[in-house]
Amino acid sequence: MSGGFAPGARVGVLTAEPLDRILDYLAPEGGCRPGDFVEVPLGPRRVLGVVWGPGEGGFDAARLRSIGRVLDAAPMRDELRGFLERAAEYTLTPLSAMLRLATRAPGLGDAPSMQKIYRRGAGLPDRMTEPRARVIEVLEGYGGLAFTLGELAAEAGVSPGVVKGLLATGAVLEQDTPRDRPYPRLDPARPGLALAEDQATAAARLCAGVANGVYGTTLLKGVTGSGKTEVYLEAVAECLRRGRQALVLLPEIALTSEFLARVERRFGARPAEWHSGVTMVERRRLWRMVGRGEAQLVVGARSALFLPFRDLGLIVVDEEHDSSYKQEEGVLYNARDMAVLRASLASAQVVLASATPSLESWANAEAGKYARLDLTARFGAAELPEMATIDLRAEDMPAGRWISPTLQRAVAARLAAGRQSLLFLNRRGYAPVTVCRACGHMIGCDQCDARMVEHRFLKRLVCHQCGETKPIPETCPSCGATGKLAPVGPGVERLAEEAAALFPAARVAVLSSDLFTTARALKDQIEAIAGGEADIIIGTQLVAKGHNFPLLTLVGVIDADLGLQGSDLRAAERTFQLMRQVAGRAGRGADQGVALLQSFQPEHPVIRAILTGDEEGFWRAEAAERRAAGMPPYGRLAGIILSAPEAKTAFDLGTHLARNDAPLRRIGAQLYGPAPAPIARIRGRHRVRLLIKAAKGAALQPAIRDWLAPVKLPAQVRLAVDIDPQSF
Ligand code: ADP
Ligand code: ZN
Repeated sequence: MSGGFAPGARVGVLTAEPLDRILDYLAPEGGCRPGDFVEVPLGPRRVLGVVWGPGEGGFDAARLRSIGRVLDAAPMRDELRGFLERAAEYTLTPLSAMLRLATRAPGLGDAPSMQKIYRRGAGLPDRMTEPRARVIEVLEGYGGLAFTLGELAAEAGVSPGVVKGLLATGAVLEQDTPRDRPYPRLDPARPGLALAEDQATAAARLCAGVANGVYGTTLLKGVTGSGKTEVYLEAVAECLRRGRQALVLLPEIALTSEFLARVERRFGARPAEWHSGVTMVERRRLWRMVGRGEAQLVVGARSALFLPFRDLGLIVVDEEHDSSYKQEEGVLYNARDMAVLRASLASAQVVLASATPSLESWANAEAGKYARLDLTARFGAAELPEMATIDLRAEDMPAGRWISPTLQRAVAARLAAGRQSLLFLNRRGYAPVTVCRACGHMIGCDQCDARMVEHRFLKRLVCHQCGETKPIPETCPSCGATGKLAPVGPGVERLAEEAAALFPAARVAVLSSDLFTTARALKDQIEAIAGGEADIIIGTQLVAKGHNFPLLTLVGVIDADLGLQGSDLRAAERTFQLMRQVAGRAGRGADQGVALLQSFQPEHPVIRAILTGDEEGFWRAEAAERRAAGMPPYGRLAGIILSAPEAKTAFDLGTHLARNDAPLRRIGAQLYGPAPAPIARIRGRHRVRLLIKAAKGAALQPAIRDWLAPVKLPAQVRLAVDIDPQSF
């Protein structure tokens, strides 16, 4: 950290307030340094800020206010400040919004050094009440994490008195704890598993990168079960041995408990966790400890990228192709790309791990920007599943059935052998459409341009866009006919009904995100299934990821064509990835697995590629198409979404923007639209999209900034810029 500011010097302070400007203040008594966390007066309030650099001038010094005080926290390092600046430029978001991401749970202020925390004790109270049960459930649900009184009461929805009342029963314990209890040390010297030859080679290459202490990105590609995790944990070990910090990003919270246990086996202690299921107490503690370099390894969701690491040496992005790495609300960023940016500024290594990499990463490896390591075999005896299609045109399928006779026989054979089958359908709920058989009306959401989906377990219709629910009506809201509304098409709940009818003796379990209210409940169900407590598993894409079901030997894909419909250019890539992932669930134990894909178009090139597993061929063909069309990753895209309560307001602004696109034309970019966005109305707001396409090397962001700078947003209109949109 260089160049302090003397008391009274003019300094620029960035706050997380939505001002989009660095404000000038006078340095306080005692001075300050760039990166210091400070409290500054803003109007009548005092807000949190970070000293960003020298003041800009241009404002009467006599009227400047003084920084309130410098807070007791490690200053934000140059590396993180540089990252926030570059990320703001790239995503075209205000720097203040970036700072908000980095200070969501700041461990700042004057909290006392000791605090009272609450944990689960032994046994249960003699007199159990509903509120008491909720407190205990919350404490048990987070794997022994600690809560403050306020947090625990809020989480359980009870008054603090209920928690206090439980202390006397011993079911809940109160402890005085230092605010910054140290994390248990991870021991990188503990031996890992003996690696197979290709694993050892890959691990050695990754370790060499980490040991060099410079930036580099490696795509680690290997089929599910080939040992990618084992290999990158070696790189984590190397990073820890060098005294630097490591970050592992995972796409889904449900994965972390299995993963944390694995880290614990490898390093003898659990790593620090950062995701939405972690309490604020723990998050603040982690934020402080990470800044002091005292959290060695953080396992987290995408927002962990914005933690104030003291010395970050390695970022692993597991399942790097996963679309949930793209944040689609607020600041629109792709955590995979931001990981690469942060690592390049921190002189850290990045490992992108996947069985089915994104076309972007594949192309970056082809172009030599990323190194690439391949693990080709499954570890040990486990073989990749055999894959075949079931041609639905040739199957005798009565209406209202989705499990073909061929698939039914395959499931029956597994049942007889005491093995599990997974039926995969990427549709939550009972039926995607509810239609009136009298007039043809389909029930839609009042607030969105979307159909309501029948959820029979909830006994309601649900909008998957906004979450709105309503009861299933008796009469058609359009023509008033009674008893004519009928479900059309299958969702997982309906499939479960069919499976139960076809196999009355089988135990059927449904894995769909909406059926579990807590991460804990989901985890319990997954563990029960892994332990053999189900014969047929019905699942959405939730099951495609990471979980290991040793008894599972058959995967039946109900509708392999589902993802190929629609006009999204990424449809082929997504379907290929999802099908390969799902199929990979079969045969992870000792038995050979089989994956059967039901399709009406088994000759479709994407379905053929899934079957043959000719990934390089598939990617080369995809790459050629994208290149010819100038589409990502061979060209650049940005989307502008305008939304307003009235469609016309959004369209008018869109038309105005399209007519005044000189800054875009100067860089040779093309503008498409305005047109209704893929979902034209959400939560009552009409959405209009403009799409900008530019050549790979074009200076896209500065052009968009120039183009939008003169725009005065009409009241009620919102504008969001989406650089590198997911669907196009
Ligand atoms: P991936 O991350 O590619 O899916 P994992 O690292 O999870 O693969 O490995 C799959 C399974 O094989 C795990 O249960 C893991 O413990 C086991 N495994 C992988 N490599 C080895 C090894 N060298 N020795 C013993 N078991 C291994
Ligand atoms: Zn809705």
